[in-house]
Amino acid sequence: METVEKLKQYAKHLSTCNKMQDWTEAETALADTPSEFRDEGYYEAIQDLENKKRTCTCGIEEILKNINMEQLKEDKKGGFFDLPKINVCNDPGHKPPTHIHIPQGKGYRHVCPKCGATIDLIPPQISF
Ligand SMILES: [Zn+2]
Ligand SMILES: [Zn+2]
Repeated sequence: METVEKLKQYAKHLSTCNKMQDWTEAETALADTPSEFRDEGYYEAIQDLENKKRTCTCGIEEILKNINMEQLKEDKKGGFFDLPKINVCNDPGHKPPTHIHIPQGKGYRHVCPKCGATIDLIPPQISF
């Protein structure tokens, strides 16, 4: 089996992750809603819940996406290997802002105000 696949099996979502939460209460509440209350908002709530259940909030999916596959494939030796570190910081400022405009030739460094983690945003360099 590929190392990456093993890693994916090993790397469990944190218990705080949306994917690990027990949503049955919310589901039951929705299922028990009398039909006269099933308006537009009701179906939006169902959709919201479905989205939430599928959204990883602990960061493990992000980490697994960013694993350097080539590097792992080269590692054919047995023994211990480093797992990616799981960052448990929940600060809303942990992730860099989206939709940030980075001027040509620049990168942008985001520093989390809480844990101090830095994330460098390097835009794809477009050459014309
Ligand atoms: Zn997760
Ligand atoms: Zn942080």
